[in-house]
Amino acid sequence: MKNKILVSACLMGFKVRYNGTEKARLNTVLKQWQQEQRLVIHCPELAAGLPTPRASAEILGSDGYQVMQNNAKVIENTGNDVTAHYQLAAWLALRTALDSNCIVALLTDKSPTCGSQYIYDGNFSGVTKQGEGVATTLLRQHGIKVFSENQLDELIGWMENRDKENTIL
Ligand code: SF4
Repeated sequence: MKNKILVSACLMGFKVRYNGTEKARLNTVLKQWQQEQRLVIHCPELAAGLPTPRASAEILGSDGYQVMQNNAKVIENTGNDVTAHYQLAAWLALRTALDSNCIVALLTDKSPTCGSQYIYDGNFSGVTKQGEGVATTLLRQHGIKVFSENQLDELIGWMENRDKENTIL
């Protein structure tokens, strides 16, 4: 069986972002993987019951790891504490990945949920910092490798190697 990939729904053109937009990165390889039914398209925030559109949210002065440890909060730009929703989103992303035999994920960077290289700094001022969102934290803790949309070439190379290993086995 070919390895599967969990993919942020907004990267596949679904308008599920907080502001009702998408962030499509439909390159040739992604389309091929989609045709081969290797993509598991998922939006953790929607799965957790958050609506679209929704208020933008950021991790307050910390990162996804600390949110999942209950040491930090996710706050909307209205001041509303949505930490529990985002923790649930992370667990649902992990559940989906495990249930679907995903060994890797391609997630939208800078999101408090899907970010894997950068997240916003919690001041709602457009400033980013190195860090990961809640779903990325949980996926990585469970051995699932996470790439951002800016690392597509790395992901493609990584998948080629894994497919070769499967062929040899
Ligand atoms: S939670 Fe992830 S998949 Fe859903 S809109 Fe945000 S970045 Fe995209």
